[in-house]
Amino acid sequence: MKIQAADRVRALPPYLFAKIDAMKAEAVARGMDLISFGIGDPDLPTPPHIIQSLKEAVENTEYHQYPSYAGMLKCRAACTDFYQERFGVTLDPQAEAVTLIGSKEGIAHLPLAVINPGDLVLVPDPAYPVYDTATHFVGGEVYRYGLLADDNFLPDLSAIPDEVADRAKMLVVNYPNNPTGGSATLDDYVRMYEYAVRHELIVLSDLAYSEMYFEEPAPPSFLQVPGAMDRTIEFYSLSKTYNMTGWRVAYALGNRDLVAALGKIKTNVDSGVFGAVQEAAITALRGDQQCVADMRDVYRKRRDLLVPALEGLGLAVTPPRATFYIFARLPEGVSSMDYAGRLLNETGVVVTPGVGFGERGEGFIRFALSVSAERIREAVTRLQTFKY
Ligand SMILES: *Cc1c(COP(=O)(O)O)cnc(C)c1O
Repeated sequence: MKIQAADRVRALPPYLFAKIDAMKAEAVARGMDLISFGIGDPDLPTPPHIIQSLKEAVENTEYHQYPSYAGMLKCRAACTDFYQERFGVTLDPQAEAVTLIGSKEGIAHLPLAVINPGDLVLVPDPAYPVYDTATHFVGGEVYRYGLLADDNFLPDLSAIPDEVADRAKMLVVNYPNNPTGGSATLDDYVRMYEYAVRHELIVLSDLAYSEMYFEEPAPPSFLQVPGAMDRTIEFYSLSKTYNMTGWRVAYALGNRDLVAALGKIKTNVDSGVFGAVQEAAITALRGDQQCVADMRDVYRKRRDLLVPALEGLGLAVTPPRATFYIFARLPEGVSSMDYAGRLLNETGVVVTPGVGFGERGEGFIRFALSVSAERIREAVTRLQTFKY
């Protein structure tokens, strides 16, 4: 039988949210008004000055042809200058930065660039699912390490057997963290880096939420760790910071060999980011950052509306210092899928069951704050009537 998908596609885990999606469709058919905290996608529009810069750049006929693979130098420099200013990290835009069609694209392609069949990657559990599937796509193996719920969801590295760590090739870290809302300090990163040095690991740092924070100090970059450039590739996305998830633009930055390897894969797969979108990215990074401060205010207010209501429901929550996720711990022994299903059926409030992010996400549900304050108030009223 040849007319069928490859083994790697058939080996993909079942889509865990299919059941929730079916329940949503049923609830809507019953005429239920859904309030969705399910999707990690900002609900606000892209700031107008960024849209305007795209509109103007669209007229530039140079951009109607294939863009440069690695991204225009001025677009990469906009990000490396941002890194200098925001993190005090010096990067060569020519050799230590590449533009991506969103960081998901880069994260998914990185294993193709650095992982051989049989190589082992240390991936957090729970986590954004791409690290795991992208490793499996290239025949790599994954070891899921736990996060410490009582310690900012930092990696429980000491629980990874030494022989596993020694055999591994790459460590994936994501702070501020999706789905847990956990944050890492620079000292925490130093410990992760020392671990990576001890076991000779590449570090993949996913920094998608660095600007979505509510408390000082602002989240650091892994590249701030002294020496980290020897083994780290960091993914910096404009998606969440500037409400640009639909635009598909991000960067990979850090160790030049790793950046070059990823760039080489990309020259064989895609043809870069539309020039007008790169212009918009430059405007985002170099323009007025008031829009980012406004974004933080919006999510902080939403967080502060929702957290007390969850506590009232008997869920254990730590208000996140960063990200727009609230990872609420369910009472002992409660299935996240069951809880999310009943919540949806009885109140129309949609959340993501933690088990969808990995086994250790079981016992939690994730709320994404991509809902207006008004609708959060409505959700809170409904939550007050809910009894599991
Ligand atoms: C949203 C998100 C991204 C960003 O994805 P883009 O492809 O840049 O839009 C990356 N990592 C995590 C953990 C995310 O939640």
